[in-house]
Amino acid sequence: MSSLDTFAHAKLAGLDEAALRRRLVPTTREAAAGAARGERRLVSFSCNDYLGLSHHPRVIAAAQEAVAAYGAGAGGSRLVTGNHPPLAALEARLAAHKGTEAALVFGSGYLANLGITPALAGRGDLVLLDELSHACMWAGARLSGARTATFRHNDVADLARILDAERAAHRHCLILTERVFSMDGDRAPLGDILGLAERHDAWTLVDDAHGLGIVEDGPRAPLEMGTLSKSLGSYGGYLCASRAVVDLLTSRARSFVYTTGLPPASAAAALAALDIVEAEPERSARTLALARRFTARLGLPEAESAVVPVLVGEAEAALALSRELERDGFLVVAIRPPTVPPGTARLRVAFSAAHAFETVDALAARVAVLTGRA
Ligand SMILES: *Cc1c(COP(=O)(O)O)cnc(C)c1O
Repeated sequence: MSSLDTFAHAKLAGLDEAALRRRLVPTTREAAAGAARGERRLVSFSCNDYLGLSHHPRVIAAAQEAVAAYGAGAGGSRLVTGNHPPLAALEARLAAHKGTEAALVFGSGYLANLGITPALAGRGDLVLLDELSHACMWAGARLSGARTATFRHNDVADLARILDAERAAHRHCLILTERVFSMDGDRAPLGDILGLAERHDAWTLVDDAHGLGIVEDGPRAPLEMGTLSKSLGSYGGYLCASRAVVDLLTSRARSFVYTTGLPPASAAAALAALDIVEAEPERSARTLALARRFTARLGLPEAESAVVPVLVGEAEAALALSRELERDGFLVVAIRPPTVPPGTARLRVAFSAAHAFETVDALAARVAVLTGRA
């Protein structure tokens, strides 16, 4: 065996040992939060398609029309020939939706975070992240070369302590957090964080991947990024900010400059979805009502978003629970380290406006039995 494969096998054995190996499962997503795996038909509580818009006829039609008009791929970086009309239209609508001067669409949310922080901070600067920040915020922070530190999850006093101790020694300071945390479903105390940031002349970047279209109240940060792949049911990422910041990133965000533009169909689909989000607020209300019904039935803290964690603890136990639910027809994926901290493996239950109330009740009843809550 080559030393390369020996290395890979040894690493895989370690992952197996710790129940941390990940595998791809062929899955066909269907309308109404359906999913098919082999012969099995499941109701998915694992998609981030919180409003069911990935299968909405108007969203699908918009994508089809854009493919017919502009082709399947962008054909180049947006700075060369890949800046198709649906992208600018989407940027104008995102900026209007968020109330910012401008917006910039990236290839994905991950790419957006990989480009934003390094374009705004570098050596001599300070980047402070909530300890539960998404992997791509960490990646952007590390890539920037700035000093990086974490504050305790949603702990404004801890953030204040670090700012008092370190802010003065650094030129610029960027604070990174999420409106809704991806694996916990809870919300950041943004009013307090923005107030603190202003007193320390720090800039705040909020990752709104799980907020857009679901929970939109509360203050806005000067930098708001997110994804087109969750409640908008499409693919791609964005930053909403001032004109000057968007213009700077257009020239300096490496994950924008040196990569192919988003396919026009993805932008057109997201734009159609944003229309529906704005015209039909009852969709997000329904998703939140379903999530709250679930937490009430299980005696969990009231859902603050479309995401509800059911903490299990060890990775193996979370996997077993997920397998058990799949036998009952529910697709609820187990989330394990390193996505979440060790000892906090969980079921991450994601709700969609496409779910039926009875299905949510059935899931809650089954989870109650399997976790000894019944
Ligand atoms: C999903 C997610 C991203 C990445 O977005 P993609 O468009 O899927 O790359 C970024 N941040 C958070 C918090 C996310 O949950």
